[in-house]
Amino acid sequence: MGLIAWIKRLAGLSKDKKLICADCNTSFFFEEGEQKFFAERGLSEPKRCATCRKNTRRNRGPRRR
Ligand SMILES: [Zn+2]
Repeated sequence: MGLIAWIKRLAGLSKDKKLICADCNTSFFFEEGEQKFFAERGLSEPKRCATCRKNTRRNRGPRRR
């Protein structure tokens, strides 16, 4: 993330959304760029932070829940 994005975020000008992770309850930012990416693909907002998403992917076995 660039410095400008940080400044915008601090100033409240950013369109980044603050979400709470369903797994670890940490707040994380759903960045403007990601929002576009998800919207274009018709995906819903992420429920987990980047760390938990990575962990989920790694732990996902052949059986899907
Ligand atoms: Zn998390």
